[in-house]
Amino acid sequence: MEWVERVTHVRQWSRGGERASHKPLLLLYALGHFQRNGDSSILYSEAEEHLAGLLREFGPPRTTSPAYPFHHLTSDGLWEVRTAAGGESPGPRVGALRSQAARGRLTTELVAALRHDPHLLSQLGRAILDVNFEPSLHEDICTAAGLDLEAVELAGARFPRRRDPAFRAQVMVAYEYQCAFCGYDGWLNGSAVGLDAAHVRWWAFEGPDEVTNGICLCALHHKLFDKGVLGMTGDRRVNVSAHYVGRGPAARDQVHTLAGRRVFSPQAAFPGLDDAHIAWHAREVFRAPARAA
Ligand SMILES: [Zn+2]
Repeated sequence: MEWVERVTHVRQWSRGGERASHKPLLLLYALGHFQRNGDSSILYSEAEEHLAGLLREFGPPRTTSPAYPFHHLTSDGLWEVRTAAGGESPGPRVGALRSQAARGRLTTELVAALRHDPHLLSQLGRAILDVNFEPSLHEDICTAAGLDLEAVELAGARFPRRRDPAFRAQVMVAYEYQCAFCGYDGWLNGSAVGLDAAHVRWWAFEGPDEVTNGICLCALHHKLFDKGVLGMTGDRRVNVSAHYVGRGPAARDQVHTLAGRRVFSPQAAFPGLDDAHIAWHAREVFRAPARAA
């Protein structure tokens, strides 16, 4: 069987439309680990928290232990688990995986295939995402799993640059999980929902993955910021483009009223936005002129 078929096959035990995304999420996580660290193994107790977070945020609304996919993925020929003593996986129990220092890794056969064909990583990643998740979630999942498919896909054209998976986490904490424009701060089951770490200077244009270039925005304001409807002045006030039109009360309440409002600053422990990045956004993205406040 071809590799793409094999990774998409992983979900097929799902029945009656029930979402079975635990193993696909572990597989994406393992591909991200391979991309960053080569074929070094993953110690269960080190990956546990990160995996649990992935399952909580992108898995179905049922609690599942990360031990479950860590063990059960071994049945698909893509992933293997060994204990410190060299034994096979002790089973899907957190205690045993921890106490026996179980480590998982992609199988030797899959690693060889990934090394042989540089395009395979993105093919597998895209295939897993396509058969398991809505497109609107793909980027968020990759970020959370530390998997950078775009870098692989662009590698032919230019030097690949890795997006830093820590960027989102840093920006979220710096802004205390709150949209810096409107203050939106929703959570679902212990994860912030509808909030993004936006780049002020675009990543594709040498914008660094740093808090000085990152701002926490809700999904609507992130989209409008990237489209140039919203921007910022040098003294950290929100600009709303005069080209933006919205006549209904929702557009007025969620967009027009932001004009002139002060942009929230990050907590004192974090550096503020770099003026040069704000100026870049004002120049390259924002649709001037701004509306009067
Ligand atoms: Zn907002």
